[in-house]
Amino acid sequence: MKIVRYCPATSRKCGRLGLLVERPEGTYVLDLARARVWAFPGSRQSPIPNDVLPLLRSGQKALAMAQKVLDAALSRWDDLPFGVAMPVGDVRLEAPIGRPGKIICPGLNFRKHLEETQGPGAKPPERPYGFLKAPSSVIGPDDPIVMPIWTQKLDYEVELAAVIGVGGTNIPREQALRHVAGYTILNDVSAREVQAAERQAGFLTLGKSFPTSCPMGPYLLTADELPDPHILSMELRVNGEVRQQGHTSDLIHDFSAIIAYWSRMGLEPGDVISSGTPSGVALGREPDTSWYLKPGDVVEARIERLGTLRNPVAAPVG
Ligand code: MG
Repeated sequence: MKIVRYCPATSRKCGRLGLLVERPEGTYVLDLARARVWAFPGSRQSPIPNDVLPLLRSGQKALAMAQKVLDAALSRWDDLPFGVAMPVGDVRLEAPIGRPGKIICPGLNFRKHLEETQGPGAKPPERPYGFLKAPSSVIGPDDPIVMPIWTQKLDYEVELAAVIGVGGTNIPREQALRHVAGYTILNDVSAREVQAAERQAGFLTLGKSFPTSCPMGPYLLTADELPDPHILSMELRVNGEVRQQGHTSDLIHDFSAIIAYWSRMGLEPGDVISSGTPSGVALGREPDTSWYLKPGDVVEARIERLGTLRNPVAAPVG
């Protein structure tokens, strides 16, 4: 299933839970709560929570019910009443997890990215290494990345993000992927001169967590449809020009390793753990600074099977 959170055109109530449905005539958002009432009228069993986080907390039973509703809708698509399925162009998609409990991002987890930022022959970190990105920085597809007034060096990083479905602490490596509810795209937008100043002191917080610096989406592909996340090509374009290309098979520490490692601090449903980014970031092109983002740019992060996460860049405010 491709789970989305969305805002209907006819309502100001956002954060509704839907499924993305691809049909020969176009792509639709199926409203899960309405479709359930239509498919199973009068049924009091297994109501579907109306947001992604409570859905994940409800566990496999709620996901199985969502699948049943989807199957019913697909089998009687032409009978769906008005407002149960809408063309995707008629709604506004939001980040699949609006406010994750935590967003854990590995740094330097692709060899070529390690070399472009640390120099040729740089030694890979022996264990996963990274930082927490502020949940308040999350935005959805098509939302603007607003340039912070504190940077002239705003950079992009396409990453694959795993969303935790079943929490746990000290999860063994061989069981780690069973804790993942699904996968989506994350753009780890970074303010490089702020990051550089922080790292001189050995820390990293502000440079990764300015408002709007964590675009996520466009949907959460459930893990049953992607049992192994290490088979996906990744790409990022700015104004149509390819900047980053990579593959999730090239991770230095794979998802089993990074989930097991960070589960030492306890993971909860809705927590996000990303892959790290492949080479091709603007930082790696210095002293040429022309690849840094500027107002008016359009950033498109694409991962095989997960669609395209598109965000324009807007001028600073304030
Ligand atoms: Mg990153």
